[in-house]
Amino acid sequence: MSRKIGIGLAGLGHVGAGVVKHLRSAASVLERRAGMSFEIVRAAVRDPRKPRAVPLDGIPLTSRPLDLVEDSRVEIVVELMGGIAEPLRLARATLQAGKPLVTANKALLATHGAELFALAAQHGAAIYYEAAVAGGIPIIQAVKEAFVANRFLSIHGILNGTSNYILTRMDEAGLGYAEALEEARALGYAEADPSLDVNGWDAAHKAIILASLAYGFWIAPQDVRVRGIENLEREDTRFAAELGCQIKLLAAIKAAQSGAIEVRVAPTLIPRSHVLASVHGVFNAVRVRGDVVGEALFVGQGAGQDATSSSVLADLVEAARALGRPPACTGFAPHELYGRSLPAADAISQFYMRLSVEDRPGVLAQIAGVLGEAGIGISAVIQPDTPSQGPVPLILMIHDARTGAVEAACARIAQLACVRSQPVLLHVERFSS
Ligand code: NAP
Repeated sequence: MSRKIGIGLAGLGHVGAGVVKHLRSAASVLERRAGMSFEIVRAAVRDPRKPRAVPLDGIPLTSRPLDLVEDSRVEIVVELMGGIAEPLRLARATLQAGKPLVTANKALLATHGAELFALAAQHGAAIYYEAAVAGGIPIIQAVKEAFVANRFLSIHGILNGTSNYILTRMDEAGLGYAEALEEARALGYAEADPSLDVNGWDAAHKAIILASLAYGFWIAPQDVRVRGIENLEREDTRFAAELGCQIKLLAAIKAAQSGAIEVRVAPTLIPRSHVLASVHGVFNAVRVRGDVVGEALFVGQGAGQDATSSSVLADLVEAARALGRPPACTGFAPHELYGRSLPAADAISQFYMRLSVEDRPGVLAQIAGVLGEAGIGISAVIQPDTPSQGPVPLILMIHDARTGAVEAACARIAQLACVRSQPVLLHVERFSS
């Protein structure tokens, strides 16, 4: 006899409707494979009168999410509302009631993870959040369970499909940023307000969750270096290609030799020959390096109704299996092996610096002088052919250097009379760690 589990579902939007749809379509698979079935006993929405994308077949609606926690038939609360304030209220109440919480909300966990996991531990409840990072890719399970014996040397990820689509189109079709964004919007890959996708914060929320899980302490958002793709120009994707590279919005999570943890999300030049460069369009990818497993790569749908629902359903099964006994893990195991974030300015990186300079002798010597005084080495200088009469582009490839020192030198270079517009400074990642 399979067991029927009562669910309270907060949110019937894009993902919530997918969960309703797939709980029905996957019912017999879940029953046979996991020996359980799920019943949505109540759902919360902002506007109960709004028409829904899926038939509700009598699921009662409420506009008060806390009703779900208070309903004794609800054994698992699923939060798919988005935003932070209301999900936080619901998450606190759920955990305080000792009920498990399933959520796809990366913004909630990135900003309030420390508090919520402490609350979960205090009340013997657990949080399941596979859908919060990289949609349908089971990366949370992998980092939490499959790689439990590893020290993580680094995790790199392409964690935002919208920006990856835009960068792919800028690279492949030579589109400008604005044109590529318009195309993404027309195809439904970008929201009406795509700010969080293109300014790097959506990917940063996911990177914070991955880094915290991998290194055992909750990373504060202010310790993460976040840069978006909004100011990239077509020239940069073209010059990157000439250098044998491609620009990706790359999340880089690393343990420095000191044991401090670096987390950054920024447009980054990566070698075209690297496997992450072949991750195109709206796909996500995560590359993990562990001291035991070596290298592992995950690629898949990073968002969308179906892929995200697949992860929510997996979380539901895991949560249901743990019902009735104290959870073996609350979803996050804090430990003291690391415990410290690396200030962004101290992180060591290679860089690409694009300048627009006067076309006359002595210019390069002035620029190299500023970098030399700061002890920053140049690994290559490229002056691409340009037909223009005025300022010309000058690309400097910079050796491993402290981020803060390179930024300070770049600010000084910007003040030189021979430099005609704001320099562009991008990270370069060669995946040596
Ligand atoms: P959405 O389409 O905007 O749906 C949000 C749903 O939550 C709607 O049904 C809305 O009700 C309800 N809601 C919002 N505020 C509420 C409140 N205060 N009280 C009660 N109900 C409320 O959002 P979504 O795209 O499904 O995303 C949901 C979550 O999944 C977000 O945290 C998102 O980051 C995450 N996620 C999304 C994707 C994706 O592909 N979309 C992928 C991974 C993770 P009404 O319908 O009445 O307005």
